[in-house]
Amino acid sequence: MANYYNENTVLYLNGSFVKASEAKMDFYSQSFHYGYSVFEGIRSYRTVTGETKIFKAEAHYQRLKNSATALNLPYTWAASELIAATYELLAKNNLQDAYIRPVVYAPANMSFNLNTESFIVIEVWEMAPFLGDKLLRVMSSSFQRPNPKGFKIHAKAAGHYVNSILASQEAKANGFDEALLSDMNGNVAEGPGANVFFEKEGRLYTTALGNILPGITRATVLEICEELHIPVEEKLFTKEDMYGADAAFFCGTAAEVIGMQSLDDQPFTMAWENTLSKQIQDAYKELVVEKKGVLVNEVLGVE
Ligand code: PMP
Repeated sequence: MANYYNENTVLYLNGSFVKASEAKMDFYSQSFHYGYSVFEGIRSYRTVTGETKIFKAEAHYQRLKNSATALNLPYTWAASELIAATYELLAKNNLQDAYIRPVVYAPANMSFNLNTESFIVIEVWEMAPFLGDKLLRVMSSSFQRPNPKGFKIHAKAAGHYVNSILASQEAKANGFDEALLSDMNGNVAEGPGANVFFEKEGRLYTTALGNILPGITRATVLEICEELHIPVEEKLFTKEDMYGADAAFFCGTAAEVIGMQSLDDQPFTMAWENTLSKQIQDAYKELVVEKKGVLVNEVLGVE
């Protein structure tokens, strides 16, 4: 198992900075028993000027609030307050290239009733920027994503991730790198922790919103496509539509933009280096570290 903290690590817990090794939560929490909590996955980067920058911090904390609201978890925090706390937490832990994990959770409650308060923890740990681009061998999963009629699928809710764990473990047990899940109608939805794009004849396609988590990286890729004048369509499609396409990739905060070699052993046919997908991967890598260029100015609104 990875080392997420040591005796010096500090986390943010309900307004205070406390040692990770001394922080406590209630074992009678409704979140622990029923997977009833919401969270975010955010990254910070050391930019080209040496500053620490949380990528799309407002969008992530807005989604945290939306997720909590969707699940009826009381939410009282302002984004500005949490962003300031996160920067302070990074500094206290001496981190620049980090993964940031806020979790909003419920108090002790064994019933299914509404609570009058929630709690928040923010944890940070080192995550080096993604460097390699080893293409992934992907397997279409036997698991479907949770049905939006049974779950608030646009929320980043802890309980949904049992589905992600099952799908990812199944793919690895079958010798693949990662899973690709369908929605309840059999259309391609997303990966266990990332959205999906594919490329065919100079156009990109990604799953339309509705049955997937609306990824912030997905939105960023759409912005990059606009800036680079790459035609892109949001629509529903099947795994058969992806078989033999020119290229495909997963995108997410943790995964960044990572190409696929094959889906169900059906190879993507263009050399990755020659694809529009690779151009997007490069543009994303530059954007997160604010490497100067058209993209940084347009997408991040930097002067
Ligand atoms: N789908 C799922 C199921 C995820 O867990 C994630 C990661 N948060 C994504 C998509 C990508 O979202 P984002 O780009 O906001 O990280």
